[in-house]
Amino acid sequence: MSNAAPNATTADDRQAGPRRHAVAPLALGSAAGDAGETEAMTSPLPPARALAAHMRQQHHRGTSQELAVRRILHRAGLRYRVHVPVPGLPRRRIDIAFTKLRVAVFLNGCFWHSCPDHATRPKENADWWQAKLERNVKRDRETADHLSALGWMVLHFWEHEVPDVIAARVRNVVAARRPTLSGDPSGN
Ligand SMILES: [Zn+2]
Repeated sequence: MSNAAPNATTADDRQAGPRRHAVAPLALGSAAGDAGETEAMTSPLPPARALAAHMRQQHHRGTSQELAVRRILHRAGLRYRVHVPVPGLPRRRIDIAFTKLRVAVFLNGCFWHSCPDHATRPKENADWWQAKLERNVKRDRETADHLSALGWMVLHFWEHEVPDVIAARVRNVVAARRPTLSGDPSGN
């Protein structure tokens, strides 16, 4: 997910270590979202009030989705970590990570990560937003390439995708990775 609106995440949140899923706070954004927030907070161009409300809504939906996916995975017996720092890339986090199996799951907000179906470009401060959102997409690509080079399987999902479908795909990938990479049945 990277649905968090600007100012939704504190520096403390970003610096905290990975958390077990059971206690992870829901206000956290994901890797790319966190970094984007830092830029947004220092920008002299705050979003209009309506836009801010829109972002809070996106944020809410995104975290609900992440929670739902995590719940399904947990019920299926999978154990994972959430908001795990990307190895070797500061300020980027994996939303749901199977660290031993090296499976990284990103749940991307349609606005922040420019979903092909739902991307919108704010009219106010249009140039600034365009540059920012393009940077997010570039960062997503860099993060995925970086993890792939380290042997991770990277899965991206959109905010608009159904949690059951996402969880099923994650379970398939995790199951496929198990025999080759790990003797740990927990997958984490
Ligand atoms: Zn979308």
